Amino acid sequence: MSAPTIGVFALQGDVREHLRVLTGLGAHAVPVRRPGELDQVDGLVLPGGESTTMAKLAVSFELMEPLQKRVAQGMPAFGSCAGMILLAEHIEGGTVGQPTIGGLDVVVRRNAFGRQVDSFEADLDFVGVAGEPVHAVFIRAPWVESTGAEVDVLARVEGGPADGRVVAVRGGDGGQLLATSFHPELTGDPRVHELFLKIVRERS
Ligand code: GLN
Repeated sequence: MSAPTIGVFALQGDVREHLRVLTGLGAHAVPVRRPGELDQVDGLVLPGGESTTMAKLAVSFELMEPLQKRVAQGMPAFGSCAGMILLAEHIEGGTVGQPTIGGLDVVVRRNAFGRQVDSFEADLDFVGVAGEPVHAVFIRAPWVESTGAEVDVLARVEGGPADGRVVAVRGGDGGQLLATSFHPELTGDPRVHELFLKIVRERS
């Protein structure tokens, strides 16, 4: 397959960082703001940001329905942090009626780590990522409270008050949806994005 076209949802969030990592891995990475742009992509990244704002903007830019549709049809997607919230079927601690793209059969708790530990870093063993543990940066991060039968846990926090909490999962109809509570786009380690590109190649 020639370079896959990977969109990055670009109405809000840390879009540039994802575009940079994807481009560095040889993907054709493009910002997505309109339905017509979404039509062109083989896979989509939902960045970190503020999920309530991202959802509202997706609705007002008439991107929410096309997003729900493409994800339901099996488009691979990777959500980091707020992006994980957008892919979740169920949100705890969301705003009333917070719209979601869905597809990932998990309950995600927003701002789960609490005010005391708004931001922290940890090294994680990550299923499907070989070599050194993944250094993870958490910023007002969600965690995965529970997972449906078709969802695989890829990483958990080890130690500290959040010991055992699930922070990376893979699910969807055939494993095409990847989500992390943390921000692999911020640490210069491309291995989680590489895993996503592998998923995209497998699907096409
Ligand atoms: N707390 C944010 C939200 O609920 C997510 C934070 C992030 O993406 N860094 O959307």
